[in-house]
Amino acid sequence: MAMIRLFLNQPLASGERVALSRDQAHYLFGVMRLGAGAELLVFDGRTGEWRAQVAEAGKRDGLLICVEQTRPLQMPPDLWLLFAPIKKARTDFIVEKAAEMGAARILPVQTEYTNSERIRQDRLQTHAIEAAEQCGGTFVPEVDALTKLADILRNWPPDRRLMFCDEAEVGSGLVLNGDPGPWAIVIGPEGGFSDAERTRLKAMPQSVPVSLGPRILRADTAAVAALTLWQTLLGDW
Ligand code: SAH
Repeated sequence: MAMIRLFLNQPLASGERVALSRDQAHYLFGVMRLGAGAELLVFDGRTGEWRAQVAEAGKRDGLLICVEQTRPLQMPPDLWLLFAPIKKARTDFIVEKAAEMGAARILPVQTEYTNSERIRQDRLQTHAIEAAEQCGGTFVPEVDALTKLADILRNWPPDRRLMFCDEAEVGSGLVLNGDPGPWAIVIGPEGGFSDAERTRLKAMPQSVPVSLGPRILRADTAAVAALTLWQTLLGDW
């Protein structure tokens, strides 16, 4: 059986002792049935991956000791994913897939036609962590609070290009080239972007409008397709 991988939100180092939370102890000792002496892999999103050993296993707490580094930190490319939250399960899917596909930061944005007014940022962050645990990642993308698209664009970093996914571009082919510097993928909500938003996005000098093919994809499909394309052409695959 594959070794358990657990994200720990504290800087790890050789010999570091890590006190476990109630949830972590429940997961490792109650659900996964590890006992004292068992080994697992841990990562903190900053220092790579470590082999750790269970020193104490309790019902509600426990202690791990970090033994040795097994992998260095592997940062994803400097790629953000901006998306408009949709239904709960589909939003969860987008965050999970973005973490697996190597997005560096996940920014839920509120657009004019965004379906939901609020998100559970902590829950989405947990999905990103679980995706990293599961896919062997050593980095966990941060999930931002829901922010208005207009506000983000107003302070947009001059050097960060926008892969603006727009179904109106169908037929224009895909032109994504240049160096892999800072980028962001932008995906709209189920209702698409408003005309004003589309005009604004297209007018930005950093904007590269792209088509994802002749069919209109659901936002969750579009996010995975765009991440795949970007990673294939400019990323770390
Ligand atoms: N406006 C559409 C649906 C939007 S689909 C309608 O209501 O008919 C949700 C988002 O996925 C879009 O805003 C866009 O960012 C992306 N998307 C879906 N299909 C796409 C395609 N073929 N090309 C580029 N982007 C696409």
